[in-house]
Amino acid sequence: MQQDIIQEFIRETEEMGIAVSGEQAAQFDRYADMLVDWNERVNLTRITEPQAICRGHFLDSIQPVRFTELAGRSLIDIGTGAGFPGIPLKIMVPELSLTLLDALEKRCDFLRAVVSELRLDRPDAPVKILHGRAEDYASAATPDSLRGQFDHATSRAVAKLNILCEYAVPFLKTGGQFIAYKLDDGGEELAQAAHAMEVLGAACDRTETYSLPDTEPERALYFIRAVSPTPGKYPRRAGVPGKKPL
Ligand code: SAM
Repeated sequence: MQQDIIQEFIRETEEMGIAVSGEQAAQFDRYADMLVDWNERVNLTRITEPQAICRGHFLDSIQPVRFTELAGRSLIDIGTGAGFPGIPLKIMVPELSLTLLDALEKRCDFLRAVVSELRLDRPDAPVKILHGRAEDYASAATPDSLRGQFDHATSRAVAKLNILCEYAVPFLKTGGQFIAYKLDDGGEELAQAAHAMEVLGAACDRTETYSLPDTEPERALYFIRAVSPTPGKYPRRAGVPGKKPL
């Protein structure tokens, strides 16, 4: 990526109160190049212009570091696609144990290449890449279930919030936090997810809104807490949460 674009990204990030080291800037630079290169063969993103990648993918993905402590924690990114928001969060917080989950195998191939190239996997804070559906990995009936194992879950641009809660909340430890990335619609989608949160044993305890440079519209992060263990029948089998949302 051109150096002036990287420098602008560092400046815009620092204006938001997030410091980016030279090593982190180099990792973002390489990640953007790989995204553009692989995108010619594998459908990863419709955003391909370098400055738009920096703002629309990187700067957006790292917003939670302003509001919550992630070092030493475990996080699952559901429907991560080309690695958003999980990989930018891991670049910013190398001490984060990260699990990337996506239903499309080709996107997982790209994620493996990025994790290797950027040396993101650490013995004390590993990166795991899982191919499959959230409903299967979170189900109590699955032998290798990851239910109840994470401090945090994230998801961006995957489904409506009421559906997402059924994917994400079962992965959390009690007291864990689901960070949902959404457009700021004045709280309408959050209100529509109230029933789902109640049924799943979760509650939204914080909302943060923000805007990205030259990007419309405003965005919102919803911090949704798992307040009690999720009833065993959730998530329902793959496909049902989307067809019959809570
Ligand atoms: N989160 C990324 C981002 O913000 O750029 C990717 C968003 S992309 C529009 C949605 C991704 O979610 C796709 O890669 C798709 O395969 C994945 N996905 C959708 N439903 C899923 C599910 N139930 N379990 C796992 N992955 C899912």
